[in-house]
Amino acid sequence: MAETPHPLTEERLQRFARHIVLPEVGGAGQAALARSHVALIGLGGIGAPVLQYLAGAGVGRFTLVDDGDVEESNLQRQTIYTTRDIGHGKAVGARRWLANFDEKLVAEIHDRRIDANNAAALIGGADLVIDGTDNFATRLAVSDACVAARIPLLSAAVGRFQGQVAAFQGHLEGEPCYRCFVGDAFDAEDCDTCAEDGVLGAMVGWVGTFAAMQAVRLLIAPQMGAADWGSLHLMDGLKPGMRVLKIVKDAACRACAPGDAGQGEG
Ligand SMILES: [Zn+2]
Repeated sequence: MAETPHPLTEERLQRFARHIVLPEVGGAGQAALARSHVALIGLGGIGAPVLQYLAGAGVGRFTLVDDGDVEESNLQRQTIYTTRDIGHGKAVGARRWLANFDEKLVAEIHDRRIDANNAAALIGGADLVIDGTDNFATRLAVSDACVAARIPLLSAAVGRFQGQVAAFQGHLEGEPCYRCFVGDAFDAEDCDTCAEDGVLGAMVGWVGTFAAMQAVRLLIAPQMGAADWGSLHLMDGLKPGMRVLKIVKDAACRACAPGDAGQGEG
């Protein structure tokens, strides 16, 4: 902890006045957001709006992780980057966006790919991990690290016009983790399909902003309603509409099952 996130000074109260007047947020909720530390994994089409809305909400501290560089084809959806960022690292660009937006917010950046070996160190100390990465192997590594570190995980993903947002606390009895949801089959598979399948900017924006709202709900729960752990929100961009499914804990999950079944992954 290098710096303490900002207290709610008079100037900060003005900045967040429209939050504070909401009974569901109020001064207590705003102070909780200011004290919060979010680790954001993946600074692409989902991560960009997540960062924008959580920075706007005054989340005091971020850990930003992405090993990619900004490409010209990213700009139709990755809203924190501009033409002059092309060829430069996304993590650096995200920190620059954040510093321009609100210099009071603290960010630590990691310009490398998160995996099973480094995930624990990268997410350590976070109150909430948000995963907006684009492949199952990374998502499972992040999820397993969250279970081991007992940190809640908010997972958001898009495939063409289908979006998914779900919050997990697999370290708790009876609560599923992301691995309970998708199983072990995807561990080795890297399925970054945006380039082949195409992706609509507003679609990932919708998923990212919904994830940001869920993150705010989780960070100040239960003021904005109970955290709906294990609920999978499915978003259909073609219908359009949303529905919700309940994910069940897998008694044999190698990340979060109690006892012998859970010893495979750390
Ligand atoms: Zn599990």
